[in-house]
Amino acid sequence: MANGKIGVTTENIFPVIKKFLYSDHEIFLRELVSNAVDATQKIRTLASFGDFKGELGTLDVHVDIDKEKGTLTVTDRGIGMDADDVDKYINQIAFSGAEEFLQKYKDTANNIIGHFGLGFYSAFMVSKKVEIRSLSYKEGAKGVLWTCDGSPEYTMEECDKSDRGTSITLYIDDESKEFLEQARIDTLLKKYCRFLPVPVISGKKQEWKDGKMTDTDEDNVVNATEPLWTKKPADLTDEDYLKFYHELMPGQDDPMFWIHLNVDYPFTLTGILYFPKIKNEFDVRKDRIQLYSNQVYVTDQVEGVVPEFMTLMQGVIDSPDIPLNVSRSYLQADTAVKKISGYISKKVAEKLDSMFKTDRKSFEEKWDDIKVFIEYGMLTDEKFFESAKKFYLLKDVNGKYFTLEEYHTLVEGEQKDKDGRLVYLYATDKTAQYSYIQAAEDKGYSVLLLDGQLEPHMVGLLEQKLDGVSLVRVDSDTPERLIRKTDEKASGLSADQTEVMTILFKSQIPDVDKAQFMVGFEAISADAAPATITQNEFMRRMKDMAAMQPGMSFYGDMPASYAFTVNTDQPAVKSIVEETEKAIGAKTSDILKQIAALNDEISTASKEAQEKKESAPDMKEQNDKVAALRADLDKEVSAYAAGLPKVKQIIDLALLQSGLLKGAALSEFIKRTAKLL
Ligand code: ADP
Repeated sequence: MANGKIGVTTENIFPVIKKFLYSDHEIFLRELVSNAVDATQKIRTLASFGDFKGELGTLDVHVDIDKEKGTLTVTDRGIGMDADDVDKYINQIAFSGAEEFLQKYKDTANNIIGHFGLGFYSAFMVSKKVEIRSLSYKEGAKGVLWTCDGSPEYTMEECDKSDRGTSITLYIDDESKEFLEQARIDTLLKKYCRFLPVPVISGKKQEWKDGKMTDTDEDNVVNATEPLWTKKPADLTDEDYLKFYHELMPGQDDPMFWIHLNVDYPFTLTGILYFPKIKNEFDVRKDRIQLYSNQVYVTDQVEGVVPEFMTLMQGVIDSPDIPLNVSRSYLQADTAVKKISGYISKKVAEKLDSMFKTDRKSFEEKWDDIKVFIEYGMLTDEKFFESAKKFYLLKDVNGKYFTLEEYHTLVEGEQKDKDGRLVYLYATDKTAQYSYIQAAEDKGYSVLLLDGQLEPHMVGLLEQKLDGVSLVRVDSDTPERLIRKTDEKASGLSADQTEVMTILFKSQIPDVDKAQFMVGFEAISADAAPATITQNEFMRRMKDMAAMQPGMSFYGDMPASYAFTVNTDQPAVKSIVEETEKAIGAKTSDILKQIAALNDEISTASKEAQEKKESAPDMKEQNDKVAALRADLDKEVSAYAAGLPKVKQIIDLALLQSGLLKGAALSEFIKRTAKLL
């Protein structure tokens, strides 16, 4: 029997371990079971090299609860330890045995879990006493029993043990009784040990009998020792991948496709990433990728560890370069982890590129579903954008797909504006913007359909990345002005007529959610619509963004503003202009003349004062007169306009075309139309 102090410099290591080292007490089980698996892998390796000639026997790891004694025991049939080993590996806790072992078998021992740290000592987080009972595989070895109650003092003595391997017994402390419940242990084993490479057995399989769940005689194996990602892609079928997916992510629809990562240089990394079908924003659930280190579960909190856009994917990534036992912030800062992240992103891009190249048709079929991943990647990862621009597809309103390069070539001839900028037209809603799409197509333009969740952001990104290209929504201007090829056509109205006609139309536009309408006139063509309502591209983008991002409510709260463009070439408009001139022309020009005279007087007076460096003259009387005259003009023109059903009809048609005619206004329109017929 030997007594001693555990070889650490501070006496207080245990309280530290207990409280601060791991935030999650439950990981003790992962540590003990992975040590056991580790020792089992080692005996296998020794046997395969002929360094161990005895019987291997069954190599299962057992996790057993004894409720009466209040113990949890992890037993393996691995290499075991003799007194010297325990002294070296356990008593001198800073020293890790894995290092030495790996040194010796470094080329073949890839599977040996070689993580360093205080793994074993995490047992003290939940125990008042821990016993190690071990028999080394070495010939003539004697059993050793090590006991420690959580203080730095331990005892070590010889004991009878006939079975090779190690058995670690935890006397669970009062605060940790939960770890004596089979159900709790089952959950933990499922979480951390589900894919460990050696069978782990805990409790018995259960069955439904006499109205309750009862133990059978059969051992309950908790893990799958050869998870799919460790196998060769060539040996696997689609069914295998789907089956594995459903085991991993129960209750989900089939994924669209998957990428099997299998890399051994510059670091070792395997994994399977699934692309789920994302139906709406609520489907976007992060933490669906699990990280493993040699089949030991590390975490599913992967933000900052895998590229941002991949948090939309699901699956597993396994790399011995991912450290265990560290906090997430440490994980994110780890240089190996950073490299892994960049590498995964590159691999995903390569895979997508090869899918695109080998079978474009099927890539196009999947496109609408996968574009959200690709767009997310392009928006958040500069490098990914560079690789993705080769296979990024634009879809037109007729369902035809183009690469960025192809689309450039397609529209180069027709869609350059007078300044030489290429204008890509797009729609976000095929039904609502139908008439605008139609009008643009009639002019021989191509219209893209950008109706995805991330596409409002893509519009900006594409403009930023594609040289000399602007994107313009198809309803943001009259068809003639979407791509301005010449300078604007004059309206053919005199200044007085423009003033009168502006009031005439403006006074008859109904209130639509407090929206502002800026009335303007342009001689478009005789057969184009009498009036069109468009929304300024910039304003609309701002409002769209505001709808998606809180904190931009400034734009969101502003009333919408539209341009209301009247086509002065259209016969109905022409006749309104003429009729108005006849009916109230004399009166309105008289008022306008008076206003002009007063305005002249005001500006001359203020000019003179300025020249004489005097203070501004008092023009209140004149200003009031102008205001009164304007009110007169307004009254005169709107009263006249109210009696012209044609004006209302033109306005309503324009509102209808842009989806703004609703409720009472819509039913009035229908009644009026019937009357006109
Ligand atoms: P790590 O596993 O990170 O090296 P641990 O504190 O968990 O650190 O374990 C220290 C060492 O103790 C291990 O490297 C191993 O040599 C030895 N050890 C622990 N558990 C076992 C076991 N079940 N069988 C054999 N050796 C073990």
